[in-house]
Amino acid sequence: MMSLRLPSIDGVLRHPACVSLLERHGRDSLLAGLRQLLDELRPSVLNGQLSAVEISPEVLAGRVGERLAQQQRSHVRRVFNLTGTVLHTNLGRALLPDEAIEAVQMAARYPLNLEFDLASGKRGDRDDLIEGLIRELTGAEAVTVVNNNAAAVLLTLNSLGARKEGIISRGELIEIGGAFRIPDIMARAGVRLHEVGTTNRTHARDYEAAISPRSGLIMRVHASNYSIEGFTARVPTAELAELAHRHGLPLLEDLGSGSLLDLTRWGLPAEPTVRQALLDGADIVTFSGDKLLGGPQAGLIVGRKELIAKIKKNPLKRALRVDKLTLAALEAVLGLYRDPDRLAERLPSLRLLTRPQADIFAQALRLQPLMTELLGERWQVSAVEALGMIGSGSQPVARLPSAALCCRPQVSKRLRGRCLLNLEAALRALPIPVLGRIDDDALWLDLRQLDDEPSWFAQLPQLQVEP
Ligand SMILES: *Cc1c(COP(=O)(O)O)cnc(C)c1O
Repeated sequence: MMSLRLPSIDGVLRHPACVSLLERHGRDSLLAGLRQLLDELRPSVLNGQLSAVEISPEVLAGRVGERLAQQQRSHVRRVFNLTGTVLHTNLGRALLPDEAIEAVQMAARYPLNLEFDLASGKRGDRDDLIEGLIRELTGAEAVTVVNNNAAAVLLTLNSLGARKEGIISRGELIEIGGAFRIPDIMARAGVRLHEVGTTNRTHARDYEAAISPRSGLIMRVHASNYSIEGFTARVPTAELAELAHRHGLPLLEDLGSGSLLDLTRWGLPAEPTVRQALLDGADIVTFSGDKLLGGPQAGLIVGRKELIAKIKKNPLKRALRVDKLTLAALEAVLGLYRDPDRLAERLPSLRLLTRPQADIFAQALRLQPLMTELLGERWQVSAVEALGMIGSGSQPVARLPSAALCCRPQVSKRLRGRCLLNLEAALRALPIPVLGRIDDDALWLDLRQLDDEPSWFAQLPQLQVEP
């Protein structure tokens, strides 16, 4: 057997293909990549398992180039969300409008008056940049913004109820995906949980009986991600606020989604608005920036002036504060709410949520032949009506009438599951991964959010489904 020898690193480096690699990745990365590749190949070369061509400088340079390109590819990647869930927490929730994207660019590129009052030339407060707008849109006396709504709840509880009892209905002790559970957050905030009532029914007298000198606040949590139906009772916010105030306690309401406007005007399910919660007498209301509001990830705390002042003085506020990019985006998104008539055109999340089913169905009909041809005869592709969701726990029971490409494998029942997983994996492997959902022995691509058809078309020829 003739023994082959691996080329030296210099030998590969001299190959013309390495000139452009050197330029693209730099000398250190290229050398490290080459060294690693040669080390990996050495045993196979010694065993005579590789041909001369396989270890030629040209082939080796090509392999290193592929690896470096792979390593250089960003890990934060755009995807197509065709799951049918619009505000998908795992896929980044709300998409920002152009106005907000421009504001983020400005804030990223230049110094800005983040904590500097341009009128007086003195130090300012970052909350002041959006306080006026939020007060106008919610009717609140004062405002502070933190990193997300979980932080808003933690900070508020800790500021207003530490070492005291927080009274809350058993029907509102919810968990919101993963680690956010009201009892745990209360404990971490240093508030002692005093649960009252039952899972399905809690009355004013239950709250009343729990009030003592140890009480610090009454909390209400909007059961955003589940629904209690049937034999139920819940004290209206106005009545609960009256009760709290009679005993000198603040009422805190965590709205979760916290819509700023009545969504029924766009045919969406009713969701309590921040303004109404405040009008009903809640002293502090907390809500997310990237759920129904349609902005960046943020937690908004609005309400009575002296309570907000107390919250802002808490050292935790500094740990949970919002960054400049978020503030810039938030201001731009809130600005759009000043013109509700045009909001559904300008705010992507609302535009997507209100996209008419007929429109989506027409798109599905249009794309069906292409998808049929692409997947071949093992698949039946049909344009069908489908039901989507708002997502992020908003209106968990409500369904959005939508339309989808429903891809059904035409194989024996035994092979169906594997076939579906293969298609799902192939769609995920595209340059812009396409995410659908498997249900009822089919892969569903809900087209509500497919508004960038050119990019979708352009990559489809690369789809490689394993048989
Ligand atoms: C979503 C939600 C939260 C958490 O909000 P994030 O912005 O995701 O941190 C808290 N409370 C309720 C009721 C929610 O729906």
